[in-house]
Amino acid sequence: MHTEDYIRLEDTHGTNTYHPIDVVIERGEGVWVWDVEGKRYLDCLSAYSALNQGHRHPRIVRALIDQVDRLTLTSRAFRNNQFPLLAKELCALTGYDMMLPMNSGAEAVEAAVKAARLWGYRVKGIPDGKAEIITCGDNFHGRTITVISFSTEPLYRDGFGPFTPGFKSIPFGDASALEAAITPNTAAFLVEPIQGEAGVNVPPDGYLRKVRDICTRNRVLLIADEIQTGLGRCGQLFASDWEEVTPDLITIGKALSGGMMPVSATVGMRDVMGLFTPGMHGSTFGGNPLASAVAREALRVIVEEELPRRSRELGAYFQQAIRDLNSPHIAEVRGKGLLIGVEFHPEAGHARNYAEALKERGVLAKDTHGAVIRFAPPLVISREEIDFVVEQFAAVLATAPYPAPESLRMRAAEPQPAE
Ligand SMILES: *Cc1c(COP(=O)(O)O)cnc(C)c1O
Repeated sequence: MHTEDYIRLEDTHGTNTYHPIDVVIERGEGVWVWDVEGKRYLDCLSAYSALNQGHRHPRIVRALIDQVDRLTLTSRAFRNNQFPLLAKELCALTGYDMMLPMNSGAEAVEAAVKAARLWGYRVKGIPDGKAEIITCGDNFHGRTITVISFSTEPLYRDGFGPFTPGFKSIPFGDASALEAAITPNTAAFLVEPIQGEAGVNVPPDGYLRKVRDICTRNRVLLIADEIQTGLGRCGQLFASDWEEVTPDLITIGKALSGGMMPVSATVGMRDVMGLFTPGMHGSTFGGNPLASAVAREALRVIVEEELPRRSRELGAYFQQAIRDLNSPHIAEVRGKGLLIGVEFHPEAGHARNYAEALKERGVLAKDTHGAVIRFAPPLVISREEIDFVVEQFAAVLATAPYPAPESLRMRAAEPQPAE
């Protein structure tokens, strides 16, 4: 079977919820992947930062195989000998007391919303059913009904109402808007330290610190969604660390398993997470021994290979190299660590065309929200590999703006299912 055969099958029998770059990958190792035609590409998306440790990191593969050979699932009806160690190690690494294990990122966000509401009623004394959670415009926290209830993206919401009540939206990056939106019924403020899906939106310096202060003064929980920005991606273990801010709750996912399987967690102190009692929440696969063993090793790799420091240093190098291209088509280069967004001028054409052109040159990257291309390679990337990406990008920019093939241009005009 060839690329077109797989594409035809997927488009016929897979629901049409994505608009992938048309490459059919069959193998990966480190920063590289190979398609079914044998062509090699450098992966600059890392599955939206789930592959910070690179494809098939040998240590994580080993941990997975060893655990598969022993025990994969008990459910939480019984205990297993891996989950307690993951819980201890994740808490030691993050400095929190307790963690709630889930699978997908959206589930970790849902659990954080539940924790915040519970705290609002049981501790803050908010009247039953009245808890409010403040969220930001252009956020991305996942795809469940409750999570899209506080999305501001029509593409994510239209056709899926009625929505979960209890959420308020303020502009991202505006601390005074938070202060103004808080009422006695506000339980929490949920925010991404950097908005990844919205186009790598970096808030003004000091934003998170101000937000922390406002939340503390008003007895509002600060929830940082670190699912994409955490675990080294932004040049610190967590993006909140850039401002030395300690949120009340953090959500972690994606790279928590080094790209092996869905593993997520909501992490916090005992005063909030300790409010859960048996029966209030759960997940058949949450905390399963396979996921726990894999996550333990994935975390050790992040620490022992100093991936946050690598990301910080290589991210600065990568960003500078893109700036040094001095391309008239680029409006802005932004990001922290190896979460980099390149925004094109409107006349430069749709970012999708750049992603398609990069693919032809052996680099996989993805456009997000029209004008932005995201470069977020695995954190194990080398300087030489970054040079390769920048070289290909320079070659693509040299022939831009695009006389894109007609088919591409037509696609670019369609609404973009962002991810
Ligand atoms: C990817 C992402 C999620 C959702 O994670 P899933 O595993 O896709 O449910 C939530 N928040 C942020 C910031 C993300 O980037």
